[in-house]
Amino acid sequence: MCRHLAYLGAQRTLQSLVVDPTHSLYEQSWAPRRQRHGTVNVDGFGVGWYVERVEPVRYRRAQPIWTDASFASLAPTISTTCAVAAVRSATTGTSPDESAAAPFTHGRWLFSHNGRLHDWPTARRALLARAADVPDTWAGVDSALLFGLALARWEAGANLATGLAAAARDVLDHGGGRLTMLASDGRSIAAVVVGEPVHLLTSRTGVVIASEPWDEGAPEAGRWRELADGAVLQAGADGITETLLRA
Ligand code: GLN
Repeated sequence: MCRHLAYLGAQRTLQSLVVDPTHSLYEQSWAPRRQRHGTVNVDGFGVGWYVERVEPVRYRRAQPIWTDASFASLAPTISTTCAVAAVRSATTGTSPDESAAAPFTHGRWLFSHNGRLHDWPTARRALLARAADVPDTWAGVDSALLFGLALARWEAGANLATGLAAAARDVLDHGGGRLTMLASDGRSIAAVVVGEPVHLLTSRTGVVIASEPWDEGAPEAGRWRELADGAVLQAGADGITETLLRA
């Protein structure tokens, strides 16, 4: 199902993050190589990025990324040090419109989910009262519940990875699912891995967490490391911390 990435590092353009790499998120929208569920990611896309203010900018569309000429013209002109981007393969029974495409956002936070809740209606009934009550929590997609659960923790002071881990535990206790999530607050990026793999690239210029290495097939692709299932990872100015969900 969906492919996504989070980036923190030196300034680079959205074009260089999302479109230019040999096996970019752009290419992964029609030719993912490691996707276990679904075959293409054409049910929308989104990019959120940070500029000189606390709240990120978010651009989403309900169409395949390669059909959006406006995104193609904007992407080379926008630079950022931190971003979250996703291409979507919609889960059956969820909304097809742009409001259901990641990244979800409120305040300083960006959020993306790859997977599906095994029993979204039941989980929603049980857990909605714990979720932050913001517009993106109400989107017609299972991911929105996870976002609301994580956001409630972030607003209460939890760090990025802790908020994601708490959201995952909530849903694991109410039907479970494939719950791999990425998030950012503009200063850090974080991931929780449940049932859908992500890969980590650290280099002199930054940190990337992505469903698929963006240079898959090239010799340099060996620099990426797949995170363990259950990993809870946060990367920021203090470096990288990695724990396990149930630890
Ligand atoms: N369930 C989410 C959605 O419908 C994520 C789907 C996915 O990972 N493909 O958008």
